[in-house]
Amino acid sequence: MSKPILASTASPDVIVIGGGVIGLSIAWELAGQGASVRLLEQGQFGQEASWAGAGMLPPGNPELARSPEARLRAESHALWPDWTERLRAETGIDNGYTRCGGIEVRLNGSSTELTAEVAAWRSEGVLVETPNLDEFGQRFPALHPHVSSGYVLPELGQVRNPRHLKALVSACAARGVDLRAGCPVVGFDHSANRIAAARTPAEEHRAAEFVVAGGAWSRELLRQAGHDISIEPVRGQIVLLEARPLPFRCVIQSGLRYLVPRADGRILIGSTEEHVGFDKRNTAEAVSDLIDFARGIVPALGAARFERCWSGLRPHATNGLPHIGRLPETANLSVAAGHFRAGLQLSPITAVKVANAILGRETR
Ligand SMILES: Cc1cc2nc3c(=O)[nH]c(=O)nc-3n(C[C@H](O)[C@H](O)[C@H](O)COP(=O)(O)OP(=O)(O)OC[C@H]3O[C@@H](n4cnc5c(N)ncnc54)[C@H](O)[C@@H]3O)c2cc1C
Repeated sequence: MSKPILASTASPDVIVIGGGVIGLSIAWELAGQGASVRLLEQGQFGQEASWAGAGMLPPGNPELARSPEARLRAESHALWPDWTERLRAETGIDNGYTRCGGIEVRLNGSSTELTAEVAAWRSEGVLVETPNLDEFGQRFPALHPHVSSGYVLPELGQVRNPRHLKALVSACAARGVDLRAGCPVVGFDHSANRIAAARTPAEEHRAAEFVVAGGAWSRELLRQAGHDISIEPVRGQIVLLEARPLPFRCVIQSGLRYLVPRADGRILIGSTEEHVGFDKRNTAEAVSDLIDFARGIVPALGAARFERCWSGLRPHATNGLPHIGRLPETANLSVAAGHFRAGLQLSPITAVKVANAILGRETR
Protein backbone atom coordinates (compact mmCIF):
# COMPACT_ATOMS: atom_id res chain seq x y z
CA MET A 1 0.00 0.00 0.00
CA SER A 2 1.39 3.45 -0.86
CA LYS A 3 2.12 5.83 2.04
CA PRO A 4 -0.48 8.57 2.72
CA ILE A 5 0.58 12.05 1.54
CA LEU A 6 0.62 14.41 4.51
CA ALA A 7 0.26 18.17 4.29
CA SER A 8 3.52 19.70 5.53
CA THR A 9 3.17 21.86 8.63
CA ALA A 10 2.76 25.69 8.48
CA SER A 11 2.99 26.89 4.86
CA PRO A 12 5.90 29.25 4.20
CA ASP A 13 5.65 32.30 1.92
CA VAL A 14 8.01 30.78 -0.64
CA ILE A 15 9.17 27.28 -1.54
CA VAL A 16 12.47 27.10 -3.43
CA ILE A 17 13.22 23.81 -5.19
CA GLY A 18 16.90 22.94 -5.64
CA GLY A 19 19.67 23.60 -3.13
CA GLY A 20 22.61 24.51 -5.38
CA VAL A 21 24.22 27.94 -5.33
CA ILE A 22 21.21 29.44 -7.12
CA GLY A 23 18.52 28.06 -4.80
CA LEU A 24 20.55 28.74 -1.65
CA SER A 25 21.30 32.32 -2.72
CA ILE A 26 17.64 32.99 -3.49
CA ALA A 27 16.53 31.50 -0.16
CA TRP A 28 19.09 33.60 1.74
CA GLU A 29 18.10 36.80 -0.07
CA LEU A 30 14.36 36.20 0.38
CA ALA A 31 14.79 35.42 4.08
CA GLY A 32 16.87 38.58 4.46
CA GLN A 33 13.98 40.58 3.01
CA GLY A 34 11.58 39.13 5.60
CA ALA A 35 9.97 36.21 3.71
CA SER A 36 9.52 32.79 5.31
CA VAL A 37 11.21 30.23 3.04
CA ARG A 38 11.42 26.44 2.71
CA LEU A 39 14.21 24.97 0.53
CA LEU A 40 13.62 21.47 -0.86
CA GLU A 41 16.71 19.58 -2.08
CA GLN A 42 16.56 16.05 -3.45
CA GLY A 43 20.07 15.12 -2.26
CA GLN A 44 22.43 17.12 -0.04
CA PHE A 45 22.76 20.90 -0.28
CA GLY A 46 25.38 22.23 -2.67
CA GLN A 47 26.78 18.93 -3.91
CA GLU A 48 26.07 19.13 -7.66
CA ALA A 49 27.33 21.58 -10.32
CA SER A 50 27.79 24.33 -7.74
CA TRP A 51 30.30 22.20 -5.82
CA ALA A 52 31.99 20.92 -8.99
CA GLY A 53 32.60 24.34 -10.57
CA ALA A 54 35.92 26.17 -10.62
CA GLY A 55 34.67 29.38 -8.99
CA MET A 56 36.02 31.86 -11.56
CA LEU A 57 34.30 35.25 -11.43
CA PRO A 58 35.01 37.30 -14.58
CA PRO A 59 34.91 41.10 -14.37
CA GLY A 60 32.31 43.55 -15.64
CA ASN A 61 31.39 47.21 -15.42
CA PRO A 62 27.73 48.03 -14.70
CA GLU A 63 28.13 51.55 -16.17
CA LEU A 64 29.08 50.36 -19.66
CA ALA A 65 27.80 46.78 -19.98
CA ARG A 66 25.17 46.63 -22.73
CA SER A 67 24.24 43.04 -23.68
CA PRO A 68 21.99 41.10 -21.27
CA GLU A 69 24.87 38.70 -20.47
CA ALA A 70 27.33 41.53 -19.82
CA ARG A 71 24.85 43.40 -17.62
CA LEU A 72 24.15 40.35 -15.44
CA ARG A 73 27.87 39.60 -15.13
CA ALA A 74 28.72 43.22 -14.28
CA GLU A 75 25.95 43.61 -11.69
CA SER A 76 26.91 40.33 -10.05
CA HIS A 77 30.62 41.21 -10.07
CA ALA A 78 29.75 44.36 -8.13
CA LEU A 79 27.82 42.36 -5.48
CA TRP A 80 30.50 39.75 -4.63
CA PRO A 81 32.55 41.78 -2.09
CA ASP A 82 29.44 42.75 -0.12
CA TRP A 83 27.97 39.21 -0.22
CA THR A 84 31.30 37.81 0.99
CA GLU A 85 31.42 40.25 3.90
CA ARG A 86 27.81 39.67 4.93
CA LEU A 87 28.20 35.88 4.78
CA ARG A 88 31.35 36.11 6.88
CA ALA A 89 29.60 38.35 9.43
CA GLU A 90 26.58 36.01 9.69
CA THR A 91 28.45 32.67 9.73
CA GLY A 92 32.14 33.23 10.48
CA ILE A 93 32.93 31.31 7.25
CA ASP A 94 35.45 32.78 4.81
CA ASN A 95 34.38 31.82 1.26
CA GLY A 96 37.86 32.56 -0.13
CA TYR A 97 36.65 35.29 -2.51
CA THR A 98 39.60 37.17 -3.94
CA ARG A 99 40.35 39.36 -6.96
CA CYS A 100 43.36 37.26 -7.96
CA GLY A 101 43.38 38.52 -11.57
CA GLY A 102 43.57 36.38 -14.66
CA ILE A 103 45.38 36.05 -17.95
CA GLU A 104 44.18 34.74 -21.31
CA VAL A 105 46.89 33.12 -23.43
CA ARG A 106 47.45 31.32 -26.73
CA LEU A 107 50.28 28.97 -27.68
CA ASN A 108 51.94 29.30 -31.09
CA GLY A 109 48.91 30.92 -32.72
CA SER A 110 47.87 34.18 -34.26
CA SER A 111 46.85 36.95 -31.89
CA THR A 112 43.86 38.11 -33.99
CA GLU A 113 41.32 36.32 -31.80
CA LEU A 114 42.77 37.86 -28.64
CA THR A 115 42.84 41.34 -30.20
CA ALA A 116 39.09 41.06 -30.75
CA GLU A 117 38.58 39.85 -27.16
CA VAL A 118 40.60 42.77 -25.77
CA ALA A 119 38.48 45.20 -27.81
CA ALA A 120 35.29 43.57 -26.51
CA TRP A 121 36.39 43.84 -22.85
CA ARG A 122 37.39 47.49 -23.36
CA SER A 123 34.07 48.32 -25.01
CA GLU A 124 32.44 47.08 -21.78
CA GLY A 125 34.66 49.38 -19.70
CA VAL A 126 36.66 46.47 -18.20
CA LEU A 127 40.31 47.05 -17.32
CA VAL A 128 42.62 45.03 -19.65
CA GLU A 129 46.41 45.12 -19.78
CA THR A 130 48.31 44.13 -22.91
CA PRO A 131 52.01 43.84 -22.06
CA ASN A 132 54.33 42.89 -24.91
CA LEU A 133 55.58 39.29 -25.01
CA ASP A 134 58.84 40.02 -23.14
CA GLU A 135 57.03 41.80 -20.30
CA PHE A 136 54.42 39.05 -20.28
CA GLY A 137 57.14 36.41 -19.84
CA GLN A 138 58.75 38.43 -17.02
CA ARG A 139 55.46 38.89 -15.16
CA PHE A 140 54.42 35.24 -15.56
CA PRO A 141 57.66 33.25 -15.60
CA ALA A 142 55.92 29.87 -15.13
CA LEU A 143 54.37 30.08 -18.62
CA HIS A 144 55.70 27.90 -21.44
CA PRO A 145 58.10 29.91 -23.68
CA HIS A 146 55.86 29.05 -26.65
CA VAL A 147 53.06 31.25 -25.32
CA SER A 148 52.71 33.59 -28.28
CA SER A 149 50.06 36.07 -27.13
CA GLY A 150 48.09 37.06 -24.07
CA TYR A 151 46.39 39.77 -22.08
CA VAL A 152 45.70 40.44 -18.39
CA LEU A 153 42.34 40.96 -16.63
CA PRO A 154 43.44 42.36 -13.23
CA GLU A 155 39.87 42.43 -11.84
CA LEU A 156 39.00 38.78 -12.44
CA GLY A 157 38.08 37.07 -9.16
CA GLN A 158 37.60 33.60 -7.76
CA VAL A 159 35.68 32.03 -4.89
CA ARG A 160 36.22 28.71 -3.10
CA ASN A 161 32.79 27.46 -4.11
CA PRO A 162 32.55 24.56 -1.60
CA ARG A 163 33.22 27.08 1.20
CA HIS A 164 30.78 29.58 -0.27
CA LEU A 165 28.09 26.87 -0.32
CA LYS A 166 28.81 25.99 3.32
CA ALA A 167 28.47 29.65 4.22
CA LEU A 168 25.16 29.92 2.36
CA VAL A 169 23.70 26.84 4.09
CA SER A 170 24.77 28.16 7.47
CA ALA A 171 23.50 31.69 6.70
CA CYS A 172 20.15 30.32 5.49
CA ALA A 173 19.80 28.35 8.74
CA ALA A 174 20.64 31.47 10.74
CA ARG A 175 17.92 33.42 8.91
CA GLY A 176 15.36 30.71 9.70
CA VAL A 177 15.11 29.07 6.26
CA ASP A 178 13.46 25.64 6.63
CA LEU A 179 16.19 23.51 5.00
CA ARG A 180 14.99 20.08 3.85
CA ALA A 181 17.62 17.75 2.36
CA GLY A 182 16.61 14.38 0.87
CA CYS A 183 13.31 15.87 -0.38
CA PRO A 184 12.88 15.32 -4.15
CA VAL A 185 9.98 17.22 -5.69
CA VAL A 186 8.16 14.70 -7.88
CA GLY A 187 5.22 16.81 -9.03
CA PHE A 188 2.96 19.79 -8.43
CA ASP A 189 -0.69 20.28 -7.66
CA HIS A 190 -1.60 23.02 -10.10
CA SER A 191 -4.56 24.53 -11.83
CA ALA A 192 -4.37 26.32 -15.18
CA ASN A 193 -2.45 29.33 -13.84
CA ARG A 194 -1.49 28.62 -10.21
CA ILE A 195 0.63 26.16 -8.22
CA ALA A 196 -1.06 24.98 -5.01
CA ALA A 197 1.62 22.61 -3.73
CA ALA A 198 4.89 20.87 -4.54
CA ARG A 199 4.78 17.12 -3.91
CA THR A 200 7.61 15.04 -2.44
CA PRO A 201 7.17 11.27 -1.95
CA ALA A 202 6.03 11.74 1.65
CA GLU A 203 4.53 15.22 1.82
CA GLU A 204 2.66 17.98 0.08
CA HIS A 205 4.25 21.42 0.51
CA ARG A 206 1.92 24.41 0.15
CA ALA A 207 3.10 28.01 -0.24
CA ALA A 208 2.12 31.32 -1.80
CA GLU A 209 5.08 31.30 -4.23
CA PHE A 210 7.32 28.64 -5.80
CA VAL A 211 10.77 28.93 -7.38
CA VAL A 212 12.36 26.23 -9.56
CA ALA A 213 16.17 26.32 -9.18
CA GLY A 214 16.92 22.72 -10.08
CA GLY A 215 20.04 23.26 -12.20
CA ALA A 216 20.39 20.65 -14.97
CA TRP A 217 17.24 18.91 -13.67
CA SER A 218 15.03 21.99 -14.08
CA ARG A 219 13.47 20.97 -17.39
CA GLU A 220 11.74 17.95 -15.84
CA LEU A 221 10.60 19.99 -12.83
CA LEU A 222 9.14 22.69 -15.06
CA ARG A 223 7.46 20.07 -17.23
CA GLN A 224 5.70 18.81 -14.09
CA ALA A 225 4.41 22.35 -13.63
CA GLY A 226 3.17 22.54 -17.23
CA HIS A 227 6.09 24.41 -18.86
CA ASP A 228 8.55 23.35 -21.55
CA ILE A 229 11.85 25.21 -21.17
CA SER A 230 14.86 23.63 -22.78
CA ILE A 231 17.68 23.13 -20.27
CA GLU A 232 20.17 20.30 -20.89
CA PRO A 233 23.01 18.85 -18.77
CA VAL A 234 26.53 19.44 -20.13
CA ARG A 235 29.25 17.52 -18.31
CA GLY A 236 32.42 19.30 -17.24
CA GLN A 237 35.39 17.36 -15.89
CA ILE A 238 38.04 18.80 -13.56
CA VAL A 239 41.45 17.54 -12.44
CA LEU A 240 42.93 18.69 -9.14
CA LEU A 241 46.71 18.93 -8.67
CA GLU A 242 48.81 20.05 -5.75
CA ALA A 243 51.93 22.15 -6.43
CA ARG A 244 53.85 23.81 -3.59
CA PRO A 245 55.00 26.51 -3.88
CA LEU A 246 52.38 27.58 -6.42
CA PRO A 247 54.11 28.35 -9.75
CA PHE A 248 51.55 31.13 -10.47
CA ARG A 249 48.84 32.98 -8.53
CA CYS A 250 46.39 34.25 -11.14
CA VAL A 251 43.82 32.31 -13.16
CA ILE A 252 45.22 31.22 -16.54
CA GLN A 253 42.70 30.72 -19.34
CA SER A 254 43.12 29.57 -22.92
CA GLY A 255 39.79 29.45 -24.71
CA LEU A 256 37.46 27.10 -22.85
CA ARG A 257 40.26 25.61 -20.71
CA TYR A 258 41.81 27.06 -17.60
CA LEU A 259 44.03 26.67 -14.55
CA VAL A 260 42.75 28.02 -11.23
CA PRO A 261 45.31 28.24 -8.39
CA ARG A 262 44.02 28.09 -4.79
CA ALA A 263 45.91 29.74 -1.94
CA ASP A 264 46.57 26.35 -0.28
CA GLY A 265 48.64 24.99 -3.23
CA ARG A 266 45.82 23.28 -5.13
CA ILE A 267 45.39 23.89 -8.88
CA LEU A 268 42.15 23.07 -10.69
CA ILE A 269 42.45 22.15 -14.36
CA GLY A 270 39.22 22.54 -16.31
CA SER A 271 37.29 21.64 -18.26
CA THR A 272 35.33 19.68 -20.86
CA GLU A 273 31.93 20.32 -22.48
CA GLU A 274 30.25 16.94 -23.06
CA HIS A 275 26.67 16.22 -24.03
CA VAL A 276 26.31 12.83 -22.31
CA GLY A 277 23.05 13.24 -20.39
CA PHE A 278 23.17 12.81 -16.62
CA ASP A 279 26.38 10.73 -16.66
CA LYS A 280 28.89 12.14 -14.15
CA ARG A 281 31.79 9.73 -14.73
CA ASN A 282 35.33 10.89 -15.35
CA THR A 283 36.97 9.48 -18.49
CA ALA A 284 40.64 8.56 -19.01
CA GLU A 285 40.73 10.56 -22.25
CA ALA A 286 39.45 13.80 -20.71
CA VAL A 287 41.65 13.51 -17.63
CA SER A 288 44.80 12.94 -19.70
CA ASP A 289 43.84 15.77 -22.13
CA LEU A 290 43.40 18.18 -19.22
CA ILE A 291 46.77 17.23 -17.74
CA ASP A 292 48.45 17.62 -21.18
CA PHE A 293 46.82 21.04 -21.53
CA ALA A 294 48.13 22.12 -18.10
CA ARG A 295 51.70 20.93 -18.82
CA GLY A 296 51.58 22.65 -22.22
CA ILE A 297 50.87 26.00 -20.57
CA VAL A 298 52.91 25.60 -17.35
CA PRO A 299 55.62 22.91 -17.82
CA ALA A 300 56.40 22.77 -14.07
CA LEU A 301 53.00 21.16 -13.48
CA GLY A 302 54.44 17.89 -14.82
CA ALA A 303 55.95 17.44 -11.35
CA ALA A 304 52.74 18.35 -9.46
CA ARG A 305 50.95 15.76 -7.32
CA PHE A 306 47.74 14.36 -8.84
CA GLU A 307 45.12 14.69 -6.10
CA ARG A 308 41.74 13.76 -7.61
CA CYS A 309 39.27 14.43 -10.40
CA TRP A 310 35.52 14.97 -10.57
CA SER A 311 32.80 16.18 -12.88
CA GLY A 312 29.59 18.20 -12.70
CA LEU A 313 26.54 18.80 -14.86
CA ARG A 314 26.20 22.38 -16.06
CA PRO A 315 22.63 23.50 -16.72
CA HIS A 316 22.68 24.67 -20.34
CA ALA A 317 19.75 26.77 -21.52
CA THR A 318 19.58 26.13 -25.23
CA ASN A 319 18.68 29.77 -25.99
CA GLY A 320 22.06 30.81 -24.50
CA LEU A 321 20.87 32.89 -21.53
CA PRO A 322 19.75 31.77 -18.06
CA HIS A 323 16.02 31.88 -17.29
CA ILE A 324 15.54 34.25 -14.36
CA GLY A 325 12.19 35.52 -13.09
CA ARG A 326 8.48 34.89 -13.16
CA LEU A 327 6.83 32.56 -15.66
CA PRO A 328 3.97 34.65 -17.00
CA GLU A 329 1.55 31.76 -17.58
CA THR A 330 1.65 30.63 -13.92
CA ALA A 331 0.94 33.44 -11.50
CA ASN A 332 3.04 32.19 -8.56
CA LEU A 333 5.91 30.30 -10.26
CA SER A 334 9.41 31.67 -10.86
CA VAL A 335 12.44 30.06 -12.43
CA ALA A 336 16.18 30.56 -11.92
CA ALA A 337 17.98 28.00 -14.04
CA GLY A 338 20.16 27.46 -17.09
CA HIS A 339 23.27 29.39 -15.94
CA PHE A 340 25.60 26.99 -17.80
CA ARG A 341 29.25 28.06 -17.21
CA ALA A 342 28.31 31.12 -15.14
CA GLY A 343 26.08 30.03 -12.24
CA LEU A 344 28.55 30.85 -9.49
CA GLN A 345 29.42 34.29 -10.87
CA LEU A 346 25.76 35.14 -11.53
CA SER A 347 24.30 33.76 -8.28
CA PRO A 348 24.14 37.06 -6.32
CA ILE A 349 22.36 39.03 -9.06
CA THR A 350 20.05 36.10 -9.82
CA ALA A 351 19.00 35.96 -6.15
CA VAL A 352 18.40 39.71 -5.96
CA LYS A 353 16.31 39.73 -9.16
CA VAL A 354 14.17 36.73 -8.19
CA ALA A 355 13.60 37.95 -4.63
CA ASN A 356 12.68 41.45 -5.82
CA ALA A 357 10.27 40.09 -8.43
CA ILE A 358 8.55 37.85 -5.87
CA LEU A 359 8.35 40.56 -3.21
CA GLY A 360 7.21 43.18 -5.71
CA ARG A 361 10.40 45.23 -5.65
CA GLU A 362 11.16 45.17 -9.37
CA THR A 363 14.72 46.01 -10.42
CA ARG A 364 15.85 47.32 -13.80
C1 LIG B 1 33.40 21.72 -14.26
C2 LIG B 1 32.60 22.96 -14.02
C3 LIG B 1 33.24 24.19 -13.90
C4 LIG B 1 32.49 25.34 -13.67
N1 LIG B 1 33.16 26.53 -13.44
C5 LIG B 1 32.44 27.65 -13.18
C6 LIG B 1 33.10 28.86 -12.89
O1 LIG B 1 34.33 28.92 -12.85
N2 LIG B 1 32.34 29.97 -12.64
C7 LIG B 1 30.98 29.93 -12.66
O2 LIG B 1 30.35 30.95 -12.43
N3 LIG B 1 30.32 28.78 -12.93
C8 LIG B 1 31.02 27.64 -13.19
N4 LIG B 1 30.38 26.48 -13.47
C9 LIG B 1 28.93 26.51 -13.63
C10 LIG B 1 28.22 26.51 -12.31
O3 LIG B 1 28.78 25.53 -11.47
C11 LIG B 1 26.72 26.25 -12.53
O4 LIG B 1 26.21 27.16 -13.49
C12 LIG B 1 25.96 26.44 -11.23
O5 LIG B 1 26.52 25.64 -10.22
C13 LIG B 1 24.49 26.12 -11.39
O6 LIG B 1 23.90 26.20 -10.10
P1 LIG B 1 22.48 25.58 -9.83
O7 LIG B 1 22.17 25.86 -8.41
O8 LIG B 1 21.55 26.04 -10.89
O9 LIG B 1 22.69 24.01 -10.10
P2 LIG B 1 23.18 22.84 -9.14
O10 LIG B 1 24.36 23.21 -8.34
O11 LIG B 1 23.29 21.62 -9.99
O12 LIG B 1 21.98 22.68 -8.12
C14 LIG B 1 20.70 22.23 -8.51
C15 LIG B 1 20.15 21.47 -7.33
O13 LIG B 1 18.79 21.14 -7.57
C16 LIG B 1 18.55 19.88 -6.99
N5 LIG B 1 17.35 19.30 -7.62
C17 LIG B 1 17.19 18.96 -8.92
N6 LIG B 1 15.96 18.43 -9.12
C18 LIG B 1 15.34 18.44 -7.91
C19 LIG B 1 14.06 18.00 -7.46
N7 LIG B 1 13.19 17.42 -8.28
N8 LIG B 1 13.73 18.17 -6.16
C20 LIG B 1 14.60 18.74 -5.30
N9 LIG B 1 15.85 19.14 -5.66
C21 LIG B 1 16.22 19.01 -6.95
C22 LIG B 1 19.82 19.11 -7.34
O14 LIG B 1 19.98 17.95 -6.51
C23 LIG B 1 20.90 20.15 -7.10
O15 LIG B 1 21.42 20.13 -5.79
C24 LIG B 1 31.09 25.30 -13.63
C25 LIG B 1 30.44 24.05 -13.73
C26 LIG B 1 31.19 22.90 -13.92
C27 LIG B 1 30.48 21.58 -13.98
